[in-house]
Amino acid sequence: MKRVYLFAEGNKSMINLLGGKGGNLAEMKKIGLPIPEGIIISTEACKEYYGNGELLSEELKNEVLEQINKLEEMTGKKFEGEKPLLVSVRSGAPVSMPGMMDTILNLGMNDKTAENMVKIFENENFVYDLYFRFIQMFSEIVMGVEKELFFELRKKLKGRVSNQELINRAKIMYWEETGKFFPESAKEQLFMAINSIFKSWENERAKVYRRINRIDDSMGTAVVVQEMVFGNLNEKSGTGVAFTRNPSTGEKHVFGEYLLKAQGEDIVAGIRTPEPIDRLKEELPSVYEEFLKIADILEKHNKDMQDIEFTIEDGKLFLLQTRNGKRSPYAAIKIAVDMVKEGLLTKEEAIMKVDPAVLPQLLHGNFEPAALKNATLLGKGLAGSAGVAIGRVVFASERVHTKEMTILVREETSPEDIKGISLAQGIVTVKGGATSHGAVVARGMGKCCVTGCGDIKIDDIRREMTINGYTVKEGEFISISGYTGEIYLGKVGLTKPQFDDNLKEFVSWCKEIKRLGIRMNADTVTDAQLGKGFGAEGIGLCRTEHMFFQKDKIWTIRGMILSHDTDEVARALEKMHQLQREDFYNIFKVVENDVVIVRLLDPPLHEFLPKEQKDKEKMAEILGVSLEEIERRVRNLKDENPMLGHRGCRLAVTRPELYNVQARAIIEAGIQCKREGLDVKPEIMIPLIIGAKELLFIKKNLIAEIEKVFEEQGMRIDYKLGTMMETPRACLLADEIGAEVDFFSFGTNDLTQTTMGLSRDDSVKFMPEYYENGILKVEPFATIDERGVGKLVKLAVELGRKNPHIEMGVCGEHGGDPKSIEFFEQVGLDYVSCSPFRVLVAIVAAAQSHI
Ligand code: ADP
Ligand code: MG
Ligand code: MG
Repeated sequence: MKRVYLFAEGNKSMINLLGGKGGNLAEMKKIGLPIPEGIIISTEACKEYYGNGELLSEELKNEVLEQINKLEEMTGKKFEGEKPLLVSVRSGAPVSMPGMMDTILNLGMNDKTAENMVKIFENENFVYDLYFRFIQMFSEIVMGVEKELFFELRKKLKGRVSNQELINRAKIMYWEETGKFFPESAKEQLFMAINSIFKSWENERAKVYRRINRIDDSMGTAVVVQEMVFGNLNEKSGTGVAFTRNPSTGEKHVFGEYLLKAQGEDIVAGIRTPEPIDRLKEELPSVYEEFLKIADILEKHNKDMQDIEFTIEDGKLFLLQTRNGKRSPYAAIKIAVDMVKEGLLTKEEAIMKVDPAVLPQLLHGNFEPAALKNATLLGKGLAGSAGVAIGRVVFASERVHTKEMTILVREETSPEDIKGISLAQGIVTVKGGATSHGAVVARGMGKCCVTGCGDIKIDDIRREMTINGYTVKEGEFISISGYTGEIYLGKVGLTKPQFDDNLKEFVSWCKEIKRLGIRMNADTVTDAQLGKGFGAEGIGLCRTEHMFFQKDKIWTIRGMILSHDTDEVARALEKMHQLQREDFYNIFKVVENDVVIVRLLDPPLHEFLPKEQKDKEKMAEILGVSLEEIERRVRNLKDENPMLGHRGCRLAVTRPELYNVQARAIIEAGIQCKREGLDVKPEIMIPLIIGAKELLFIKKNLIAEIEKVFEEQGMRIDYKLGTMMETPRACLLADEIGAEVDFFSFGTNDLTQTTMGLSRDDSVKFMPEYYENGILKVEPFATIDERGVGKLVKLAVELGRKNPHIEMGVCGEHGGDPKSIEFFEQVGLDYVSCSPFRVLVAIVAAAQSHI
């Protein structure tokens, strides 16, 4: 097995082996861009390292030394030589994990090296600055010594002792903190560094990042060992990070930041506030011009917006990294559309570039101009990641919780904040530019972010911040705009979700290309209008019980369920019939000529019953019976295990009139619409079926009722009758069931519950341990469990297709989940149905899964 590669031996297609950083460096070398030379230790070597009980094998060490020899030849420099070779040791996984793992700069430094370098550069302060930085970084990353200790030491001694003495004191501190001598040998330093980079793959924040971003834990990181170039050499040196287009707005103009006389992580760490890249045009014009040219080459070569790290040494430009840049959802769409128009990408390629999961962000609009006029502007930072967010201020990541709308406000974010960022609605930082860690991570997650708002002063003890004379306490609301960087007091009103022209065009391409139909889950006129606006093709799931929970309607059904008096029941049924007919009519009108699938009543009976004392009293009064009697009836109806109790079509076996009256309402509303000239297509769906006989029993009742309606009305309409597939038994017997229906709709929420025997509500208590221990990779209620639940779906599709006319789709959370949609495309479903805000996600994911 080859473990170590020269840059010249690699290329971009080897990213799984060489990591993103290594593969792209090799590729840049290949196309002739200015890159400091280096070698790459492969991810396979990292896996071997973990297989070895976290030890570097002798084979690996030998291979590293061999390749270092070649690097020495190529650069004409030598570890600890007259012309000393210094290197950076950089982590780089196949998938970008910004800031999650470690990098060490200036490795190879020791007393002899320093002396030789002083001779070459004739600048003792510069050389010893490198040396000190090296000891500090090495100590922190390899040995876990707090870097603050070194900052303090330097502050205390700077100017009072010689450079050499400062280094001695740093080494003494290393010894005090670790009980070991600082390694003088460059080779030993190198092996220790490689070891710790491999180790950083398993550090806590990297693990959390992988879990949140669903990155495979087993792929390991590569290590790049690269000749150092010095951005801190003189005034004509510097370091920077830039995007080929604006990652927040998508505008086609190089966007980024740099710092002169600075090294490495000074920028990403957000410690000194850098200059915008456009200023480089004045300070180092020829470097700026060259950078623009290279940016263009890289963008065209990689066919994507690039995020580039560079260093300038004494007026000469070097590239240190390129990767596809993270961007806001807004920018993602604009860049994709622009690149098609520029002829850089085909429509299909452009569609594949957009992560559908971040699209809902786009639909949350912007601040209302009128509301903004009256709002109190607290201050302004930089626009770090587009979007707007409203939430309660929280100053520490560990206090950000899921169930609350929060905005995380931090001095600067560090990789430890990753979890807080993922849970918060938005992020504000006091320090750092638009390419600081917080902004990069926020953009990747599609979160709104404002950075570098220097007016904020955080008081961690009192848990409050002051900003331009205002004091905001933790828990109070603020509103932030990642478009402008503005921060407002309180909650600012939002505009309606809007589609801009780029998004419209992008979605229209996806619609041309996709195969799967995209329907919405909508129970109300408002939802139906919303989903239709986003491009839904009809309603795949209209839940009728939600209609009952509106306003006073609940009393009608409560009365019916709790009544023993037949007249009372008949009256309640009639009321229900009228209410539902009106509801369906209104929804049909919105959807117009598209399909509407109405699911008949599903939830456990007792969910409709009065729970609170005052409601029970009211019920007693309505029905004219005693409170005790009401309580007795409620007790009788309560299931021990409601999820598996008296719900779904079980209701229609015990009380057929419930479903009959719903079917009547649907058909009557349909007839009314037809009379008004609409071509409505109502479809009636029976939930939770467990077998064909049960289905037939219900179907017979429904058809009899529907025929009665046709006769009464003197008019027929087309309708369909179908069933939800939500139990393993239904899936196993899908051929028998399929012969009796026009359609199946896989209710994968319940199918997951019934197949796994896990309740969605209760499982949150114990599932985290399943993910932590690697027992389950994905959350089965978010992404379909392909191996288990998916197998049942596949089987049912095959069996069901024995009825050649049958139509099949899915409704439920999975219908809006990109990964699951890919699976539904593969098993050949006809459509997916999801909540209105997921419709866009589904359209894009459906197109992607069909490309
Ligand atoms: P990260 O993955 O956290 O971005 P990198 O490995 O890219 O870490 O290193 C961070 C920064 O260190 C780079 O952006 C660059 O400025 C600096 N750096 C890394 N290697 C070198 C090098 N060989 N010469 C000069 N600077 C370097
Ligand atoms: Mg780093
Ligand atoms: Mg980097």
